[in-house]
Amino acid sequence: MADPNNPPPGECPQCWRHAHDKSIHARQDRRTDCAECVDHMLNGHPTLVPGRRRWW
Ligand SMILES: [Zn+2]
Ligand SMILES: [Zn+2]
Repeated sequence: MADPNNPPPGECPQCWRHAHDKSIHARQDRRTDCAECVDHMLNGHPTLVPGRRRWW
């Protein structure tokens, strides 16, 4: 199962956590985009988990 605190290789730790820990986005207005996620979408991910992807 997806663990919010344990992103697989090749994933952005922050985006992974936000995607799988619903409580993070649940705390804010659902119509307001998450600034951190928007920043990553526009500018890319500053860090990715090192290692080879195990799937897809
Ligand atoms: Zn990201
Ligand atoms: Zn987010």
